[in-house]
Amino acid sequence: MRRKVIAGNWKMNMLPNEAINFIDELAPIVKDTKHEVILCVPYTDLFYALLNVQETNIKIGAQNMHWEENGAYTGEVSGKMLKSIGVEYVIIGHSERRQYFAETDETVNKKIKSALAVELKPIVCVGETLEQRESGVTEQIITEQIEKAFEGISATELEKIIIAYEPIWAIGTGKTATKEDANTTIMQIRKKLAEMYGQNEANGVIIQYGGSVKSSNAKELFEMSDIDGGLVGGASLKAEEFSKIVNFDI
Ligand code: PEP
Repeated sequence: MRRKVIAGNWKMNMLPNEAINFIDELAPIVKDTKHEVILCVPYTDLFYALLNVQETNIKIGAQNMHWEENGAYTGEVSGKMLKSIGVEYVIIGHSERRQYFAETDETVNKKIKSALAVELKPIVCVGETLEQRESGVTEQIITEQIEKAFEGISATELEKIIIAYEPIWAIGTGKTATKEDANTTIMQIRKKLAEMYGQNEANGVIIQYGGSVKSSNAKELFEMSDIDGGLVGGASLKAEEFSKIVNFDI
């Protein structure tokens, strides 16, 4: 059985002192969860968060990285740099990065390869726009994103990757995909992975749902056959609310 992984994405929120207080509050209330807990925090919080999660079951991720190891890329941070301070996960290809920072399936592919090369675990985001969903091309869009993002990635590498299916129209809007729709699209992603890597390999991949997940809808979503947890934005900014999502089955 696949494990459930719940990752918070703080986006551009939380100063270091707020991050420290948040982790102090969260750690005792998620310590008994059976699920994996990750917080993807801004770069400026990483070091403080890493120190503060020691002796807890919380893991730390970044929200982006550059594909080169170093060089003349003012303002960028590489996977090697993240790894050097102990970061374990990195979100790659979040729709906000695709929308506002010109991220493409090609840059996503380079970043995945670069993250894996330094043993960072990528959380790779894919998802369709509202227009695409309404015109019935969701499966086509998603499978294209998967095909391009995973080009040149081996089956052994696939095991280290988490995929987050995030319909763009459901992110930060309060609109959640129905559990059936989310599960269907995730099954389509798994079908595509099976074509590329084989059924066994596809069955092992953690595929999260993201898009306005909160404590009131987490259980019904995460209990679906193919939804292996969630990538949570807004509702990950309050420790108590996030803990209820992490502890969805208690
Ligand atoms: C996200 O940031 O990936 C996300 C899904 O945000 P929200 O939960 O706020 O919709």
